[in-house]
Amino acid sequence: METGALNELIKLVAKLPGLGSRSARRIVLHMVKNPDKALHPLIRLLTQVSEEIKVCEVCGNVDTVSPCHICTDHKRDQSLVCVVEDITDLWSLERSNSFKGLYHVLGGTLSALDGRTPSRLNMDSLRARVANNNIHEVIIATNATLEGQTTGFYIADMLKPFNIKATRLASGIPVGAELDYMDEGTLTLAMKLRQDF
Ligand SMILES: [Zn+2]
Repeated sequence: METGALNELIKLVAKLPGLGSRSARRIVLHMVKNPDKALHPLIRLLTQVSEEIKVCEVCGNVDTVSPCHICTDHKRDQSLVCVVEDITDLWSLERSNSFKGLYHVLGGTLSALDGRTPSRLNMDSLRARVANNNIHEVIIATNATLEGQTTGFYIADMLKPFNIKATRLASGIPVGAELDYMDEGTLTLAMKLRQDF
């Protein structure tokens, strides 16, 4: 491999979330030193993911099928929907193993400043899901940030006409905390002690 491509690869990896140029150099070096264990499987999986990845038409999760494996798992409680901001939050809750219902991924939060209006988020599809399915409870698990809470109140308002239970995660979650940074024990507890919205 010529130096040009290596440098481009390092630059690209450095732009990934949570990484900088120092870790990017280490990662790329590790990959080129270990082609069989790191580089080749990565190439194979990246190709596979780019070819097969789909956004779930029901909940907004990513998977290789749509509807996703969570939506079609009938061992899960189909009457329970947990609304999250992003897919990383869904993954955090799945890792915590504290929730056996379905999800709805909003794709962000409302923000007047940044022009993120309800129509930019998956709000209509949430309303339609609640209107057309036998859903008993919606757990609003937006982050405990100002924007997350504003979005939560908007959803609680939107769901009022449907006469279903709307809950939020317990306030044990520190103010300003994001689900993705929370340890699994805290998340499990917050889900167990959820409160009426
Ligand atoms: Zn789904």
